[in-house]
Amino acid sequence: MQTSALRTQRWIRRFVCLLSELCVLSCAASAYEPGKFYWQGKTQEKVIALTFDDGPGRFTVPILDLLKKHNIRATFFMEGTMVETYPEIARQVAQAGHEIGNHTYVHFNYRLAKNAAPERLTHELAQTEAALERAAGVRTQIVRMPHGYYNRTWLLPTLKEHGYALVHWSFGTDWHLKVPQEQMIQEYLAAAKPGAVFLFHDGGRRREKTLAVVTAVVEALEKQGYRFISAEEMFKGS
Ligand SMILES: [Zn+2]
Repeated sequence: MQTSALRTQRWIRRFVCLLSELCVLSCAASAYEPGKFYWQGKTQEKVIALTFDDGPGRFTVPILDLLKKHNIRATFFMEGTMVETYPEIARQVAQAGHEIGNHTYVHFNYRLAKNAAPERLTHELAQTEAALERAAGVRTQIVRMPHGYYNRTWLLPTLKEHGYALVHWSFGTDWHLKVPQEQMIQEYLAAAKPGAVFLFHDGGRRREKTLAVVTAVVEALEKQGYRFISAEEMFKGS
């Protein structure tokens, strides 16, 4: 009796040890450091992170189809108001296993704020988290600022305080509606390099060209030996 009680105790101790080891491992595996600025991967491997902003929207689903066809996990930076408009699509993105980041609630251009606006940003991020929680049951770790806003004073400390990292991009041009499609494809291809972070937009009204450009860019770069990954995979451990 005593021996079996001792044995049980020993097993419990081993189990607790294993659990704490797993916890340490999973904490160490978290890709991002809060308050850190990421924009390009440090790798010699032919990998490029694909990121999509301003969604979800009506072009998100065809983009999901394209990613599925090529077996790509990408990153979607969603706007809170769009998540509330298209909760089903936000859920679809999450269910397809893509990474989701916070792109604020109303896409305010913080350059227009006369003073530091940490409270406004914190409020917008929380509104988007709530929308994402309701729609897709996800919580994000990363933020992409609307209009590529950046400052050295309050932005990173505010994000750090709330556990977020900032993810920018190394190349993107698809919002320029006047640039011809073929030229845009060539611009993305010219910007391809190991560790690149490409920005595209799945949200917005006129994204037919984006869809065509992403399709062509993915196909061409796969032929050159590139593999497409999420921001999370790109920045893991960097
Ligand atoms: Zn945006």
